[in-house]
Amino acid sequence: MSASAPSITRATCFHHPQREAAAKCVSCGRSYCRECVTPVERRMMCAGCLKEKTAVKAEKKRDWFVVSIIGQALLGLMGVWFVAYFMGRVLLQMPDTFHEGTAWERMISK
Ligand SMILES: [Zn+2]
Ligand SMILES: [Zn+2]
Repeated sequence: MSASAPSITRATCFHHPQREAAAKCVSCGRSYCRECVTPVERRMMCAGCLKEKTAVKAEKKRDWFVVSIIGQALLGLMGVWFVAYFMGRVLLQMPDTFHEGTAWERMISK
């Protein structure tokens, strides 16, 4: 005959087996005591999962930051190039339109 088996129904903390579980981690599903969980967006999460989640988030944010900076730089360059190209074209066409423009310029001054 063996001694009384540990009751499985009463959940204990994953880190502290002597403590009663107060909450369940929404990420890994393990039970933890109040000290081991942190409320995240009204949900309880253990320290390990929280670390993992925040690390991934930070990395993603950094990636997006770099992508947006590169995108903005490219857009800016394209904008500058387009304006320069357009201005060049206008300046090249200037002499032709200038002569024609004198007609309506004289009409307005009259
Ligand atoms: Zn967890
Ligand atoms: Zn604990």
